Parts: sequence; structure tokens; C-alpha cells
Amino acid sequence: MKLPNKLTKLKAYDPITGSYSVRLDANESYFDLPTVMKAKLADQLEQIDFNRYPDPIATETIEAFASYYQVSPDCVTAGNGSDEIITLILNCFMEKGAKLVTVSPDFSMYGVYASLSEIEVITVPKKDNLQIDTSALIAACKNADAVVFSNPCNPTSLGLARTDVIRLIEAVPDCLVIVDEAYMDFWDESVLDLVNKYENLIVLRTCSKAIGLAAARMGFAVADTYKTNLLRAAKSPYNCDAISQKICATVLNEHSLLQHCRDEIIVQTQRLYTSLSELCARYPDILDTVYPTRTNFVFVKTSYAKEIFEQLLQAGISVRCFPNGLRICAGTRREHTLLLQELERILQPN
Ligand SMILES: *Cc1c(COP(=O)(O)O)cnc(C)c1O
Repeated sequence: MKLPNKLTKLKAYDPITGSYSVRLDANESYFDLPTVMKAKLADQLEQIDFNRYPDPIATETIEAFASYYQVSPDCVTAGNGSDEIITLILNCFMEKGAKLVTVSPDFSMYGVYASLSEIEVITVPKKDNLQIDTSALIAACKNADAVVFSNPCNPTSLGLARTDVIRLIEAVPDCLVIVDEAYMDFWDESVLDLVNKYENLIVLRTCSKAIGLAAARMGFAVADTYKTNLLRAAKSPYNCDAISQKICATVLNEHSLLQHCRDEIIVQTQRLYTSLSELCARYPDILDTVYPTRTNFVFVKTSYAKEIFEQLLQAGISVRCFPNGLRICAGTRREHTLLLQELERILQPN
């Protein structure tokens, strides 16, 4: 049997597996839930009717999300991670053969989902400083049906100012602008409040990063009610299971816990940035640039990414390796100490 080329050409997403004592590769929160919260969640699980299908809309979770982020629950669609939401949006709003603009470097899954949906991808390269070239992006979007990018960006950690995002949205009213704000909890240039102002805007959010619930798989699309109702109608009815819905609703209602964790992560990320910058200043022949970060990770440009990555793995420390650099997620003080000790050992001339 002949299988479609769009399928057979795929390579599986290759997350780092195996057990490493220091995990800084997946941009997760380094805070697990407090024990009292876990006990509270265990109690709530007892109330679930496990023989029944879950709420198709995830009403309680969406209400908790809407109250934390100050949006209307009628503008929110819940999905099995924002990964599912991205596929859903592409399938709903784009026809086969339509044109989707992406930027490079950016989150690699956009291109994968687009090609499975038989959508043509047009990639706009970023500037040498890894910032988005807004004018070039606008020019590309004039002839396209949609554009998607992460802001702040994974993997560069850089952000595009809200004024530039608005300039893009206003310049291309016929192009759907999908802004993936997976890391926007760590910055304050969101366009979440504009989903009712612009018909061509959809914002994505996730529980996997600042909220600290990567295990629960819950992501959200925020858009005007017209598009929200279309997305809700098109999604598979029971895409979010009852357990995840309950867990995410409970945690999203813990505003002060969430804000505390977010603030701590921002402090730790800035510490990591400072330490890596110092290392970069001492080993300029090996480490090119450390980028100022708007996320919970730091991107280090280096031609020796693969070598450093492999030596760190051998020492039980996992980071994410890219062709031109390393993406290192913020961790605890102890994890940073271990990472920096090991980097020091690797970089030292013998
Ligand atoms: C981590 C991440 C997501 C989140 O994906 P989930 O499926 O919600 O876990 C989305 N977009 C970007 C850019 C990310 O880095």
C-alpha cells in the first residue's frame, strides 16, 4: 500500500528521553505543585464520574483561565495542549494549498502540522540579531492566508513588541494572525486584550510553561466569539479529559501561587542569563552571544553547540541543542550551580 509522501517524509519529534539528573531541555517550570495542592487535587479526583464523558467545552477550566487572564470565557477554546489547537486552527481556517507564513528560527511544529494539512509554508528569515523583521513579515503576509509565530519566541527567547504585532495585524486584515504566547506570562507585551478588536487575530496560550502543568496537556485559543464558536464546533468533542480539566481549573484559580512561581522563574532566568553572559565574556572564542531573554530560558549562540550538548549529557545535564546554539531552561539554584560547574569544566582549555 502506498502511503502519502506528506506522512512518510515526517521525522518524529525527538524530545530528550532517558534520565538526567538536571533537566533543562523542555522549557518546563521547575516548580512541581506544592504537596498540599496535590492532596487537594487527589480529593477532587474522587468527585469525578469516571464512567461519564467529560465536559466538551471544559467550562470550569475556561472560566478559571478567563478570570486569571482577564478575558471573556466566550472567547476561549480549550485543547489537548496548544499543539492540538494549532492543528485545529490550521484545519479550520485554511484550505488545502493555502499559504501559511512562518518565521525562522521559530517553533518547529508549525511547519509539521501545516504540511500534514497540505498547506504551503512560506518562511521569512529573521534578522542577523534573531529579531523578527516586521516589514519583511508584513510583505510576506500580504500574499498569504495566515501567519503564525511565537512571541516571545522559542527558541531565541526574544520578544516582538506589542506595537509591532499590532502594526502587523492592522497591515494585513485579510491574513489570519496567530500569535503563540506560550511564554507571555514571563513578559508583558501580550495582545490577548485585542481579540475582540481585530477579526484576524487568534492568540494561543498553554498550561505547559509558566502554569507548571506540562503533564496535564491543556492549551487555549483566544479569539472573538464568532471564531471561538467555529473552533468549538470543529474540535473533537471530548478533546480534554476530565482529570486534566479539573487539575487545570484548580491550579488556574490559585492566582497568588501562580504569580509567585512566575516571579521566581523570572528572577532565576535573569540569574542564568547573567552567569552565562559572564561565561561568554571569558570564552568569546567558543560562546558567541547570550541573548537577553523574555522567557524562562536562555539562548546561547555557539558553533560548538553539539560538542557542548553531548558533554553536558554525559554529565547528566540535558539542554536543547540547535545547529547554531543551545537553549537552556531556567532551573533551581542547585541545577544552575551544577550546569555552570560543568560548562566551566568543558570550556576550560586543557
Ligand atoms: C511549549 C510550547 C507550546 C506548548 O505546547 P503544549 O502543547 O501546550 O504543551 C506551544 N508553543 C510554543 C512555541 C512552545 O514552546
